[in-house]
Amino acid sequence: MIFTQSPNQSGRIGHKPSMIVIHADGGTTDAGTVEWISRAESRVSYHYLVGRDGEIYQFVNENRKAWHSGRSFWDGFTNVNEISVGVSFANNGSEPYKQIQYEEGGYLVADICERHNIPAHRIRSHAEVSPGRKEDPYSHFDWAAFLLAYALESRERMP
Ligand SMILES: [Zn+2]
Repeated sequence: MIFTQSPNQSGRIGHKPSMIVIHADGGTTDAGTVEWISRAESRVSYHYLVGRDGEIYQFVNENRKAWHSGRSFWDGFTNVNEISVGVSFANNGSEPYKQIQYEEGGYLVADICERHNIPAHRIRSHAEVSPGRKEDPYSHFDWAAFLLAYALESRERMP
């Protein structure tokens, strides 16, 4: 885990994380995305980025709001940034995701969900919370591979 503070964050106004939003960053290199999120002018951040080699980058503390979903709604709630942890996968929108990304991303999300008591049905895509406006992590994201890693890790954590 590599922590790089992003200036693009703010307080959660009386809310705790109760869902996960999965993104693709649309970038061509991990380093480029890390640099972009570290710059105030981008006005964008995720809590976590899963790099192409499975490395996890963190930019914002989970108890703070990251700026990843913009105009969005889910289950009667608008502005899901307020209530979500944003997890992005490094992917340019057409390249294949790497198996190691599904595994490390799945383990990461299992850990977040366990700590905040977030159920699996509240792991959603950016496309789902911003319909008609966003399509990431795109149709080539293999939800079965990702959710398998998530489920195996969650099962390991059962008391
Ligand atoms: Zn997104």
